[in-house]
Amino acid sequence: MPVDDLLQHLDRSVSPAHSTAHAARKLADAGFVEVPFDRLAKDIPSTGFVRDGGLLLAWHGNAGPFRIVGAHTDSPTLRLKPRPDAASSGWKQMAVEVYGGILNNSWLDRDLAVAGRLVLRSGETILVDTVEPVARIPQLAVHLDRDVNERGLVLDRQAHLTPVWGLGVANDGEILEMISGHQGVRASDVLSHDLVMYDVTPARIFADGTLLASGRLDNQISCWAATEALVRTAASGATHSCSVIALFDHEEVGSESTHGAAGPHLEWLLRRLVGNNASQFAETEFRDRCVSSMCVSADNAHSVHPNYPDRHEPGHRPIANGGPVVKSNANQRYATTAQTAAAFKRACEGAGVPTQDFVSRNNVPCGSTIGPITSTRLGIPTVDVGVAQLSMHSAREMCGARDPELLARSLEAFNRS
Ligand code: ZN
Repeated sequence: MPVDDLLQHLDRSVSPAHSTAHAARKLADAGFVEVPFDRLAKDIPSTGFVRDGGLLLAWHGNAGPFRIVGAHTDSPTLRLKPRPDAASSGWKQMAVEVYGGILNNSWLDRDLAVAGRLVLRSGETILVDTVEPVARIPQLAVHLDRDVNERGLVLDRQAHLTPVWGLGVANDGEILEMISGHQGVRASDVLSHDLVMYDVTPARIFADGTLLASGRLDNQISCWAATEALVRTAASGATHSCSVIALFDHEEVGSESTHGAAGPHLEWLLRRLVGNNASQFAETEFRDRCVSSMCVSADNAHSVHPNYPDRHEPGHRPIANGGPVVKSNANQRYATTAQTAAAFKRACEGAGVPTQDFVSRNNVPCGSTIGPITSTRLGIPTVDVGVAQLSMHSAREMCGARDPELLARSLEAFNRS
């Protein structure tokens, strides 16, 4: 059942590294061969993937134009500081750093678990997940903040977003001991960590089957749909193009990192797939292959909000379950062009998948995503698309329950186009 598979993906993708680990298992089960991250220079299989932390690249085929689907594995969250043990007024607290553009209030009064990676003295990196809630950011009671409902909630990110996790004083290393214990590892064997918080409430489909709520919908919906579409494409035996997925880290903080969309790994993979040997001829061949290829940058879009319809451009109001949204911006905050939009819509029409259009109001700043970065780097024509959602960047977001499958079908059609 695609829906169960999607819910499982959402619940297991609690950190970027967990997201790629889950996608990797699905790809391996479908016959994709994992290539060690530092072995792309050797002979690579025609159906395979590489993965490191929050970055995963997978491919099927090596001839014909590239059909690339890009998405991102990270979501706005709270990240544990290198030395997280803190305390105040008899409460043990966790020192956290805000990662990306969180909606501050959405992190209050939620039961929070911790997940991510531990790097051990041995050099090994392991995944860890407390699964159970271990901390909470309590909101100030209304009795002590009498005019909060009139004035609006104002939160200082340093002072007011520090979770509590117990009673007592701060003891250096205690939090790490509690977290690493979940993997049977002693804190003294952990040299560094990359740990984020998440709300333990599982992904849920609402009673009438129309709506889906979960943490990290932005952008795990696209990661799931991209992976699902690649697996389906490979299973169908389609070979006239080379399908690639690129699940990047660090989109929420600008993509400027080794594992972000501005990093070199996708280009290295594409050159390897072309069989580039750095000669003048091969360089031209690589360029020609790129300009005849196409990339879908898949990232969620804003559904029209019933309580704030005026925030949307009147003639462009995507709605949940209306199918993938094609995002355009004349100022190139999105990479969509008339040609790429048409190519994507043509593929969707062929698959019976409806599409919608989004453009922002002239007086509301437009967001951006990985599309413009990959298209600028590689010269590959790109279209920005995504599922329409509400509550973007909340700790718990909402979208239409049918849209993820429509996105997967549209990407499969794009892979075959
Ligand atoms: Zn996103």
